[in-house]
Amino acid sequence: MSPLSACEASLVEAIDLAPILARTLDWVAVNSGTGNLDGVAAMAQQLTAAFAALPGAITLEPPAPVEQVLADGTTAPIAYGDHFVLRVRPHAERRVLLTGHMDTVFARTHPFQQTRWLDDETLNGPGTADMKGGLSLMLAGLLAFESAGPALGYDVLINSDEEAGSKSSASLIASLAKGKLAALTYEPALPGGIMARARPGSGNFAFVVRGRSAHAGRNPEDGRNALVAAADLAQRLYAVRRAGLSVNPARIEGGGPNNMVPDLAVLHVNMRPGGAFHVAEAEGLIARAIADVTRIHEVTIEAHGGFNRPPKPITPAIERLFDLVSRAAGDLGEPISWKDTGGVCDGNNIAACGVPVIDTMGARGGAIHSSDEFLEVASLAARARLTALVMHRLDRGETR
Ligand SMILES: [Zn+2]
Repeated sequence: MSPLSACEASLVEAIDLAPILARTLDWVAVNSGTGNLDGVAAMAQQLTAAFAALPGAITLEPPAPVEQVLADGTTAPIAYGDHFVLRVRPHAERRVLLTGHMDTVFARTHPFQQTRWLDDETLNGPGTADMKGGLSLMLAGLLAFESAGPALGYDVLINSDEEAGSKSSASLIASLAKGKLAALTYEPALPGGIMARARPGSGNFAFVVRGRSAHAGRNPEDGRNALVAAADLAQRLYAVRRAGLSVNPARIEGGGPNNMVPDLAVLHVNMRPGGAFHVAEAEGLIARAIADVTRIHEVTIEAHGGFNRPPKPITPAIERLFDLVSRAAGDLGEPISWKDTGGVCDGNNIAACGVPVIDTMGARGGAIHSSDEFLEVASLAARARLTALVMHRLDRGETR
């Protein structure tokens, strides 16, 4: 006997691979590297056309302003594309958030632009798994879900800057997460259907160190060497790495001619707190290192950036949502498991709002962020069925 009710069986049986695959191929053909604003805008148009098949209202929301620190210590705005938002039954009492991203890590100039079949089941191409396949199957799942006349409301957010850390969409994510009973994010699942469990947080920082220039031979004692101070700061931050906190000093910019004490350097660092390690502790360690270097080297240090991805620990609410998703997957004959991962995504930001999230609802695939990125094509239909069934069961008030 099927574990699915008659209603559930008719929902999932209506899902057909062909249109999901066709849309995926169309969308993968559009280069939408985060910085390719024309490509991202073209993707937003394609999404608007496709998601218009669902009820609700679509808006394209402007990116929030984001600044980057340049090598000369000044800041400049970074441009991002608009974010896609669909709001369905906004006044429903119970509502869910579904999120994905339209951007990829592959810039317009990257050599990896073509899609090719590795075998009958496997597609190699930029953004196939991460995550144009995921966006396409999310739509198919929602179309099937709507056929049963649900009461559950939902918002779909597809941002344009996820691969750059979602800094221009973070406030939009937080405002859409508010009040939702659950969230589903369409990052790819690993082959075998393994889903992401806990994720660490991530923060990117730029420290602008200003000293004082002087002649390297005549009066070096009057100088305050910004490059040495930046190197000392890098060492001190690196020294605080521990279990639950990775620290990667990534780049120092600055310096000048050999006969001058350099008065400017910019240090860029990535830090990932996770497990029991809290963002506030990491912020305290950074503040102490800055204070020490400022005093010892007699320089000034301006800190930019922050922990844009809070850690995503496992809460009882996330466990319950995973149980629901896991039971649905089992009932569809595609059991899943889950394990901790070192990667970060918008699921971190959603979890930080107190909303339980499963953030690997997308297609099965792998080797993402590389030219070997691949998509298991059969998963497009299988995972669309999972979305339809999970949404249906959330609509019927099942909490586990
Ligand atoms: Zn992704």
